[in-house]
Amino acid sequence: SRPDILIEIQLTLYRMSMMGLNIHFLWIPAHYGIRGNEGVDKMAKEATINTLVQLDIHFCQREIKSIIRQEMKKKWQKQWEEERRGRWLYDIQRRVGEMRNTGRSRREEVIIARPRFGHTGLNKTLFMIGKLNTGKCDYCGEDETIDHVILQCQKYQAESRTMVHTLGQLKVKLDLVHLLRQNSKSDCFQILFWFLRETRVLGRL
Ligand SMILES: [Zn+2]
Repeated sequence: SRPDILIEIQLTLYRMSMMGLNIHFLWIPAHYGIRGNEGVDKMAKEATINTLVQLDIHFCQREIKSIIRQEMKKKWQKQWEEERRGRWLYDIQRRVGEMRNTGRSRREEVIIARPRFGHTGLNKTLFMIGKLNTGKCDYCGEDETIDHVILQCQKYQAESRTMVHTLGQLKVKLDLVHLLRQNSKSDCFQILFWFLRETRVLGRL
């Protein structure tokens, strides 16, 4: 995994061969009293008790990139945990950098990203951004949020019952945060999509 070190060894061998020294590699049995081998063995053992590494081996480019990526992700995670905004999404996604390559279609990803962020095309959001005079549900007069539509509104009672029943068969409780947290082409997710399609709420997200 360190091609640069291999190249360096090859270069060294090449330089030595240019000086007229030909190196051959061959297998030898260990612990057989072969002088050079015993010496190397002893040095290797000594090295394992050293606290300092005497040899300075620089990271290769790939390792540096990977270290930078890890450090950035750590910082991002820390920021995410300390941030005060976006807490609704934080409940759904605690760890940064996940939820990619889920196998869902781009369209489904876009649609489901909105309730994840807590922003939808439902009345409550439209009211908040000044597009509607009221954020209430047309059917029952409660605040029309995604929670309301999925968990409370009587208008979607039949679909909701079917969803709860189907989720129940998968031993999953109807928990919105849990549902939105699903990140694979999971069955519960498909059930949520079924509900949103069936109630025509999907087109309003
Ligand atoms: Zn309602």
